[in-house]
Amino acid sequence: EAKKQTLGFETEVKHLLHLMIHSLYSNKEIFLRELISNGSDAADKLRFEALSNDSLYEGDSELKIRLAFDKENRTITIADNGIGMTRDEVQEHIGTIAKSGTKQFFEKLTGEQAKDSELIGQFGVGFYSSFIVADRVTLTTRKAGASKDEGARWESSGEGEYTLETISKEQRGTEIVLHLKAGEDEFLDGYRLRSIVRKFSDHISIPIIMTKEVVPSYKDEDDKEGEEAEAKDETPPQPEDETINSASALWTKARQDIKDEDYNEFYKHVSHDWQDPLVHVHSKVEGTNEFTLLLYVPSRAPFDLWDRNAKHGVKLYVRKIFIMDDAEQLMPRYLRFIRGIIDAGSLPLNVSREILQQSKQLSTIKSGAVKKVLGMLEGVAKNEPEKYEAFWKEFGQVIKEGPIEDHGNKERIAKLLRFASTHTNTDKQDVTLEDYVSRMQEGQDKIYYVTAESYAAAKNSPHLEIFRKKGIEVLLLSDRIDEWLISHLDEFDGKHLQSVAKGDLDLKTPEDEEAKKELEETAKDFESVITQIKEVLGDKVSEVKLSQRLTDSPACLVADVYGMSLNMERIMKDAGQ
Ligand code: ADP
Ligand code: MG
Repeated sequence: EAKKQTLGFETEVKHLLHLMIHSLYSNKEIFLRELISNGSDAADKLRFEALSNDSLYEGDSELKIRLAFDKENRTITIADNGIGMTRDEVQEHIGTIAKSGTKQFFEKLTGEQAKDSELIGQFGVGFYSSFIVADRVTLTTRKAGASKDEGARWESSGEGEYTLETISKEQRGTEIVLHLKAGEDEFLDGYRLRSIVRKFSDHISIPIIMTKEVVPSYKDEDDKEGEEAEAKDETPPQPEDETINSASALWTKARQDIKDEDYNEFYKHVSHDWQDPLVHVHSKVEGTNEFTLLLYVPSRAPFDLWDRNAKHGVKLYVRKIFIMDDAEQLMPRYLRFIRGIIDAGSLPLNVSREILQQSKQLSTIKSGAVKKVLGMLEGVAKNEPEKYEAFWKEFGQVIKEGPIEDHGNKERIAKLLRFASTHTNTDKQDVTLEDYVSRMQEGQDKIYYVTAESYAAAKNSPHLEIFRKKGIEVLLLSDRIDEWLISHLDEFDGKHLQSVAKGDLDLKTPEDEEAKKELEETAKDFESVITQIKEVLGDKVSEVKLSQRLTDSPACLVADVYGMSLNMERIMKDAGQ
């Protein structure tokens, strides 16, 4: 067991490593952010485990990350005293990619460097980013609570293989030594390292420690006395430690004391994303269930947005102590793209997942948080329409699940929806229901829509002819989710949503009434034709009717008022039902 094993990386890891080294080079200093971020996560996990088992601290509960460099050996070392890993965990976490969305990520790669580097960033670079600057990485680790001789050493040059062996390690936690590639000596510089940490990792809540730079004291050439005095001093001065980040939980600070960059870097830490977020909300909610939230909307949809097993992105803290990742109970599914933290001041620290499942307090916190998120989105929609457009493009389809899942906020969510419509006649979804209502014709009391499998099919639907002629706007719905959405959103602002392809049209305009009479007259003339058509079509239709729907097409299919729409029938058939 203790023997040294040589193992191969998963094919996907090899692929990712190669891409990363070649496409992220211009952002190479991010390796430090990633390794510090991991150290901080490891500290969070230990603190949580130790809540129910204090002995895990092994007498050392001051969690920290230490950063050092060695000019002679050309190494950088990042060490934490967090949870650590067992040998098996090292193999599992450092040799494979166990992330949802991995498949989608690899499918999206184009081979074009600029595009791919963006995709990698979005996917999350993590530990492997070490290999951007290092040609050998040594990771030694011991799990908190395990015996000293159950440590593990992992080493790789990032080229397809790694070695793994059991070692003895006094200190719990993880230490990573980067053997720098030729030409990367810029990182062997205390000033440079400090400035990277301040830029990317200032918000990390545990101290990041370096030894103080010994500033050479000014010596006068002629000052013989001074030199002699120095020579007499036998013990060299002990290097002193200093904390180089602000080491406090970002969300506990006042908003006005937090810079945009701090907000952005904190986002990258919690989300494992690489780009800046689109927008955030930071707010303290007072009351019996007091809590603080700092939540973000990413600029881009994550790869696993449509993955059933995707993790949720909100972390739960209780009074600054991390409790758990991807807390499903904190955000509904239609807001699953939200990232960030919620710090619940009033929950007991010893909460378990089981307790959380039924916690009334947590559901109150959730509904409060949802309101904040909706408020944030409303603000963007109102004040930053371009940003909202970008948001809608990435997440609109998910927001459309909102009225289905969240009845309590149906009306608010409905206002956030955007549709294509005959008014603008483009496939861009930018018409709100409020816009539609404001343009309704005199006497019109319904919101009309057509559903189809594509925008083109919706736009060219023969059902629209009469509406176009009368200048009545129709929403053009062609997203997969639309049928489902519309079946749950039957009303907006007191107006019924009505399919143009269902049942009788009753446009209720004065000329309409006249047209109806006319139609009845015509119907008499056409009686024999209709009977003939009925005979020919037989069982295939339930009824043949003369209609005022069409102006150019001779005939169209219409669904029953209470029947399934034709598009819905098609979707059900696709789904094998
Ligand atoms: P991510 O942080 O997004 O999960 P990484 O590639 O950064 O991805 O890390 C992969 C996994 O390796 C982590 O999820 C964690 O389980 C483990 N890991 C990495 N660094 C550490 C560390 N310093 N201490 C403990 N576990 C670690
Ligand atoms: Mg990481």
